[in-house]
Amino acid sequence: MSKVILILSDALRYDVAVANMGFLGHLVESKLATLFKIVGELPSMSRPMYETIHTGVPSSVHGIVANSVVRRSSMPNIFRSVAEAKKVTAAAAYYWVSELYNRAPYDRIDDKETDDGSLSIQHGRFYTEDDYPDIELFVTAAHLIRKFSPDYLLLHPMGMDYHGETYGSDSKEYRNHAIHQDMWLAPLIQEWMEHDYSIFVTGDHGINKDGAHGGTTPEQREVPLFCFQPKVKGRGDTGEIISHLQIAPTILKLLDVPIPETMGQKPLSLD
Ligand SMILES: [Zn+2]
Repeated sequence: MSKVILILSDALRYDVAVANMGFLGHLVESKLATLFKIVGELPSMSRPMYETIHTGVPSSVHGIVANSVVRRSSMPNIFRSVAEAKKVTAAAAYYWVSELYNRAPYDRIDDKETDDGSLSIQHGRFYTEDDYPDIELFVTAAHLIRKFSPDYLLLHPMGMDYHGETYGSDSKEYRNHAIHQDMWLAPLIQEWMEHDYSIFVTGDHGINKDGAHGGTTPEQREVPLFCFQPKVKGRGDTGEIISHLQIAPTILKLLDVPIPETMGQKPLSLD
């Protein structure tokens, strides 16, 4: 059993992550990590994919089929399952995550910081601006981990999506931001692994050179899944193509939390 951090980097493309995130690449190359390619579920939009990743079911089943569907999740999901198992949950994330798992619609003031054991996300720190600096969010997540030692934490930066939508994916701004995320995460990943966290890094969708996503092209749907387990060797670059639907059961299995029947996919083999 391990604690788990899911780093959901919004709009982190597979090819750009593999080409520009050198610390993560080092861990893969040294077989300290396992890398898969995810051909993302559809539509390649944010709110539907946040729910798909956390419920392990596709958008036509969970019903969050567009960013405009603003309501709480009605399916078993990672946060609810972990909280029901009497474990501690936390998130440093965009406010749509608060709407899916805590309360909708979002109140900018009341919901910004939550420390409430009755909520699915017990320790939540949320932001509403797409250009909110990732480094500030990473520090917030690191603080939550030092202070509350959550069993499950979601870290959800928006920087790749912001730079991709502003400058397009074929831009120095988008590519350089992947380098920055990797650079900022490297020492944090070291600290968290020393505290026995398993860590996953993935994206909700990709983005194309027009700065758009939502469609079916490889640029819009292919994202990485990097997996690191403390004191356990990884498999390196597996070359395997997997589904977003496998993330939720994999995380619950690592946490030793019962996997809801609705999560029909098998957990991934990480070592
Ligand atoms: Zn997104």
